[in-house]
Amino acid sequence: MDPRVNDVLERMRQTAAQAAQAMGKAADVASKKTNELVSSTKVNLQIFELKNDIEALYKEVGRSVYMAHTGETVDPQEIDGKIAQIDDKVARLCCLQEELEQQRPGKKCPACGKACQPEDAFCRFCGQRL
Ligand SMILES: [Zn+2]
Repeated sequence: MDPRVNDVLERMRQTAAQAAQAMGKAADVASKKTNELVSSTKVNLQIFELKNDIEALYKEVGRSVYMAHTGETVDPQEIDGKIAQIDDKVARLCCLQEELEQQRPGKKCPACGKACQPEDAFCRFCGQRL
C-alpha cells in the first residue's frame, strides 16, 4: 500500500475505539428518535435521504484517501469525522429499516422470520403454526 495512504489509515485506526464509543451513543439516541416515528412514508423518505448522505460521505472519504496517495495534505481528523458521520447514519438506517419491517401488514413467522399474511394459520414457508 502507498505509505502515505497507510499513514492516514493508521492514524484513523488509532481513533477507531473512540469512534466506536461515540457511535454507541449515537445509535442509542437514534433508536429513541426512531421510536417516535409513526408514518412509514416518513420512514421511507428518511431511509432514502440517509442512503444518499452515506453515498456522498463514502465519496468524500474516498477522495481524501486518494489525495493522501497523491501526496496532498489530508487531515486524518476530517476523515475520522466523516467516518463517524457514516457510522451514525448507518446506525440510524438500521433502526429505520427495522421500524419499517415492523410496520408491514401481516405477521412474521416466529420460526423462520418470513412475512405471512394476517389470515394465515400456518407459515407458508416452513409450516410453523402461527
Ligand atoms: Zn416459517
